[in-house]
Amino acid sequence: MSATDYQDVVERVVAAARPYVGAGKVADYIPSLGEVDPNRFGFAVATVDGRVHGGGESATPFTIESISKLFALSLVLGHDGKEIWKRVGQEPTGDPFNSLIPLQLSKGIPGNPFVNPGAIVVTDQLLHDTGDAYGAIRALLRAETGDPQLHVDAVTAHSEETTGNRDRALAYLVADFGNMLNPVPETLNHYFRQCSIMISCEKLALAALFLARRGVRADGSRLLSEEDARGVNAIMLTCGTYNEAGEFAYRVGLPCKSGVGGGILAVVPGRCTAVAWGPGVDDKGNSVSAAAALEAFVKLTGLSPL
Ligand code: GLN
Repeated sequence: MSATDYQDVVERVVAAARPYVGAGKVADYIPSLGEVDPNRFGFAVATVDGRVHGGGESATPFTIESISKLFALSLVLGHDGKEIWKRVGQEPTGDPFNSLIPLQLSKGIPGNPFVNPGAIVVTDQLLHDTGDAYGAIRALLRAETGDPQLHVDAVTAHSEETTGNRDRALAYLVADFGNMLNPVPETLNHYFRQCSIMISCEKLALAALFLARRGVRADGSRLLSEEDARGVNAIMLTCGTYNEAGEFAYRVGLPCKSGVGGGILAVVPGRCTAVAWGPGVDDKGNSVSAAAALEAFVKLTGLSPL
């Protein structure tokens, strides 16, 4: 597809998602997210040549939340290769992202890197490897987007830190099973800040292009082996939208990663990334309007490899 074709697709996706804008509920368990206007919407596509096409509020920053988990995982895989898979599994849990039950049953080895305990273990590893997990994620996002201003929203980070008792419970349970390398408060401080990074659809689409380029970054260097890039995409497809991943695979048919800030990132390996954002989420934590947008994107372009 040419650049004008992509721009046309973006406009049509924005129109298709319009009836769903405002649907769902903002994630008010994190108080600062509860204040976001639910009627916002943006959509962007970035192609592997680094071009980006946006529609709606595609340049407006929103809170990245769990989409940060895929950048943390990619950095850890880039450093440690496969070592992380001794500490976290590769299977969907079929449970909510912050459930304690599967973690108890698996004796502190989280089911996958995208449920909260799995992501906390990945951040713990990144902190161990680099000394600054949040800083490493921010540096990657800044480099891939070319935006040196990209930063955490301190109010949201504080909001997460003061209300994050469920995440603390998960992290201490992991620690009790002997699967934490750093003190829990230190790892969580990095985890809450990585979740509170502000980024727009356009920038997020650019930041994740290495997954569409089979592991290669914007400057041509390699972050992931081809095998690990395929692996991250596979875990996005099977676990990226939590206990709704099966339905997403059916509806959208692309590797996706969602966040309770209302963003969903999708990867079309070899072609492009697409990011939709609408703050209203369903009871599984996935944005209603962003899901509708990605479904429309695949219908309009036929880009699902499935
Ligand atoms: N920061 C959020 C939490 O830990 C991330 C959850 C999400 O986006 N699914 O609960």
